[in-house]
Amino acid sequence: MDQFFQIALNPTCDTSPPFDQKDMDEFLAMVTAALAAAPGLSFVRAVYLISEQMTKAALQEDDRGFVCNRGCGFCCHQLVSCTELEWVEIRGFLVSLEQKRRYHVGKALKKLRGQFMEYIRTHPIKKSDAETSMKVRSHWAGKPCPFLGQEGECVIYPVRPFECRAYYSTEVCTDLLPGHMTIYPFVWQKIASTVLVDEQMKLLPEGAEIPYLPLPFWLDTDELLKI
Ligand code: SF4
Ligand code: SF4
Repeated sequence: MDQFFQIALNPTCDTSPPFDQKDMDEFLAMVTAALAAAPGLSFVRAVYLISEQMTKAALQEDDRGFVCNRGCGFCCHQLVSCTELEWVEIRGFLVSLEQKRRYHVGKALKKLRGQFMEYIRTHPIKKSDAETSMKVRSHWAGKPCPFLGQEGECVIYPVRPFECRAYYSTEVCTDLLPGHMTIYPFVWQKIASTVLVDEQMKLLPEGAEIPYLPLPFWLDTDELLKI
């Protein structure tokens, strides 16, 4: 298990985030207000909601010319990571899908998990750093996410991991990680990502490694296939 914890992927590899505690507190205050306004909303969904609202408003004034739209899909051909709290949301959503679709997604997830386990077995992770992160990501670049539907749609769109909400491009991508792609273009996206990890950390013993892991780590596909 330690190996998995060592793949703590920070997509932007920031060493000094462009925000401080005050920014975090302001963001958290908005999350708290969203939770109070919608009983039953989970913390994760509230973070998604606030970040999406802020991003939507900002995109209307942003002059960088992002062209991202439903169905592009190139940014969905890579290994995505999330916290366990986010995975709980995904799992709940998958359970709510109709049985046939759930079965197909479950099979794709099982295949990915098998490939991932084999990769870890043959490429032991020695340390958690930007170089290792890029190496792992490069290996998985080009491989479709198991949640990518046949028409390029995200099957779990409402609960897609936060990392999936971070990719923007000024041209429709024709390959992965081209020069015109940017990750976390808005500072509150980095804040939201940090807030999610912090919330997860509260549930862990003190000193535990950051629980931000590739999707296959969280999968319990046999259970999903049986439901
Ligand atoms: S980052 Fe590229 S592939 Fe992803 S949605 Fe934007 S344009 Fe499409
Ligand atoms: S979870 Fe959805 S948005 Fe994220 S990579 Fe997979 S298909 Fe794309």
